[in-house]
Amino acid sequence: MCGGERFAHHDVLWGNLISQWELSQEEAAYINVQQGTACVGCGSNVRSIALADAFLRYHESPSPLVEWVHAPLAQSLQTLEINEAGTLSGILKNIPHHRLVRYPEYDMMALDLESESFDIVLHSDTFEHISDPVKGLKECRRVLRRGGACVFTVPIIVGRLSRGRHERSPSYHGHPGCLDEAMRVHTEFGADVWEVVLSAGFSECRIVSYCYPAGIALIAVA
Ligand SMILES: [Zn+2]
Repeated sequence: MCGGERFAHHDVLWGNLISQWELSQEEAAYINVQQGTACVGCGSNVRSIALADAFLRYHESPSPLVEWVHAPLAQSLQTLEINEAGTLSGILKNIPHHRLVRYPEYDMMALDLESESFDIVLHSDTFEHISDPVKGLKECRRVLRRGGACVFTVPIIVGRLSRGRHERSPSYHGHPGCLDEAMRVHTEFGADVWEVVLSAGFSECRIVSYCYPAGIALIAVA
């Protein structure tokens, strides 16, 4: 993000969420790193950095995001951000053709946006809150031009398969005691997360590791 190399950490998961999610100690530890280890310079956590890393790799950029936004390509790229994509949001808003729509005001399963109108779609830890993930990603694909990409993060427990929470007790992200429907978890993603990407009609799914297993991002190529 900023090129900084100093990090600070605080745990963000709470007991009830860990038990609903049935995380082992090791799994809880890496999700805590994903969400709670952050650059001292710009405040970006591992989740945001992994997303920026995948985004920059897709564009074959050797520069951190704060410098990339001044590159010639950045001036013409049509980007769509669904919900603030972590700390990328504050940096990407400086490029000319950037659009931010917010979840849940904008329904990811029925985006009120023209087809094939963006080069990049970004979202970060929003996808697990969408009731039909394939439908959500199909919409991301619809608004992308051919060869464009949806770059996103979602919490992934790498040692198990994805499971829906529809048959389980409601679980919410955000903070302990949160009952906001928009923060309700519909899918707990696992090692088969790529399957949702290909089911949605993308031609390619790249899984990019910034720091495994805490910092993983996906590039879905349309
Ligand atoms: Zn930084």
